[in-house]
Amino acid sequence: MSDRQYHLKFDGDKAAAVDAYLEYRRIVGDDDGGELFNPDEYDTYKKKVLPMRLKNRLFTSWTNSSGMDCKQIGPETPCFCQHRYKQHKTDFETVPEERPISLPCQVRGCHCTSYHYIPLMGGTGIRCKCKHPAEEHSEKAPYRCKKSVCQSCAGFRSSYTCGCGSPYNDHEMIVETQEEREARGHPVGMATPYQAMGGLTGYSSLAEGYMRLDPSGRGAPSEEFLKQEITSSDHAFLRGAVPSIQAHRRAIKDYGRLDEDMAERMSSLRKPNESEMDFYERRYQERLKAEKSGARAIQPRPGALTSKRPTPGGSTSSRVASGMRAPSGRTIAGKGRGVPRS
Ligand SMILES: [Zn+2]
Ligand SMILES: [Zn+2]
Ligand SMILES: [Zn+2]
Ligand SMILES: [Zn+2]
Ligand SMILES: [Zn+2]
Repeated sequence: MSDRQYHLKFDGDKAAAVDAYLEYRRIVGDDDGGELFNPDEYDTYKKKVLPMRLKNRLFTSWTNSSGMDCKQIGPETPCFCQHRYKQHKTDFETVPEERPISLPCQVRGCHCTSYHYIPLMGGTGIRCKCKHPAEEHSEKAPYRCKKSVCQSCAGFRSSYTCGCGSPYNDHEMIVETQEEREARGHPVGMATPYQAMGGLTGYSSLAEGYMRLDPSGRGAPSEEFLKQEITSSDHAFLRGAVPSIQAHRRAIKDYGRLDEDMAERMSSLRKPNESEMDFYERRYQERLKAEKSGARAIQPRPGALTSKRPTPGGSTSSRVASGMRAPSGRTIAGKGRGVPRS
């Protein structure tokens, strides 16, 4: 492999030119027919296409029956027809009325009528139960096998099991508008000028659904969630950060929060003569109170999936790992303090 590596060196100006070229490619894709637009054409193209992408963006995902987006489709994600997502029609002057929305392949000679995700396994596409790969099946639903020996294949079916635990055929393609996606309780990310962004709404979109740890699809947690106090029931890794946070509060003279932090720390100690049962009862009551006072700022949206997974050990280690999920049943201090004072 090492002999195939290229070492390119260039100064700032030239690097900027490379960046400009990559930006151009992400925006234009193959729409220039293989010949670079001149600056005027590029301008005209952007004026025509960017408003369309900002207003009429379609979000594409491969979703299981419980609504988890197992795969967010990106520009390079392959289709059943062996072409990439970006080679399908993704820009729409007006959003089609009919559902499901079809995204036909634009490669000449390809009969694919709408983008259809095919998972890869070990770098190659999965095979049908008839033992033939996707490319030997018709590009059109119901994706029958084209091999003459294969009379019994009624359509592509695979024994492949997705990371979410459901088989291949329990998934469906979803192509939706921003409003529809929001109604489903899934993140839409920021508006983008790039072509064929499909379901990509942020870095975590690149991970498979079951690894993203945001089954609700709420996206990034709220300010309040990230800024809540670290308590004694949190993971040791988080507790290790407490001294530096306190030093910072002292430095900016935020004594209010220092006190509050101290109160939580005191309360987390067992009092003299307090039995173990009493201690847990008291901590439990404190937690109920904190929850009632609305400290748990993240409420699932209607229609959103709620996490049914148990939180390991009730610690917030998962918060560190995923940065996404509000683990259930944790103790929260800083009650009802929505807006931090600092
Ligand atoms: Zn195609
Ligand atoms: Zn296709
Ligand atoms: Zn087949
Ligand atoms: Zn076959
Ligand atoms: Zn799945």
